[in-house]
Amino acid sequence: MPTRSSFKDELVYVSALNEYVYCPRRYYYQRYYDEIGEPYELVDGRLKHDTSSRRGGWIKERYFRSDELGLHGKIDLIETDSGTLTPVERKRAESGSYYASDELQLAGYCMLLEAVLEEPVSVGYIYLYSTDTRHAVRITPKHRDAVRNIIDQIQTMSINNVPSLIDNRSKCDACSARTYCMPGETAVLAPNEAVGTDWEGVSPEEPP
Ligand code: SF4
Repeated sequence: MPTRSSFKDELVYVSALNEYVYCPRRYYYQRYYDEIGEPYELVDGRLKHDTSSRRGGWIKERYFRSDELGLHGKIDLIETDSGTLTPVERKRAESGSYYASDELQLAGYCMLLEAVLEEPVSVGYIYLYSTDTRHAVRITPKHRDAVRNIIDQIQTMSINNVPSLIDNRSKCDACSARTYCMPGETAVLAPNEAVGTDWEGVSPEEPP
């Protein structure tokens, strides 16, 4: 059952940035049909002054929120070496590499952290389990604009406006929202919804 009609003025989970980039339509189904809430411990600006935890170590699983940014979320791991705080996003990455959407998620964590600390956080790390490698990512103005743009798109989503099918069918094979989305059936029964996507021209004989 749908739960809410709009998310305007609500905070967006940082992890949702990644999900939205994967497929806005899948994110729509997750938000309106399969919502899961997780309680986290709220952390505020006190972290900034907690010098004992900032040098030579790690901070684990802290929740942050920024009303100004419209973001919130739990950062699993923050490196505190050299007295600076650097978020680390860990990915299974069976392909051996990370994606642009992972960079945006990391950018969201950096922006969230700097909003709380009120100091720049311009680098984050992506750690890949599959290769046991860590990659430094410098957060650019382009990342920041993209994050703000996605937040805006998520907050202005409407239950009455289902995003179009995705332009990359390979993602649909592993999609958890496929039973809601029914891309093959949609392309056959409502071909106008598939125009300009990878699903355009699917015939009724093709397996969905
Ligand atoms: S099945 Fe494909 S188009 Fe539909 S929600 Fe999943 S990824 Fe998006």
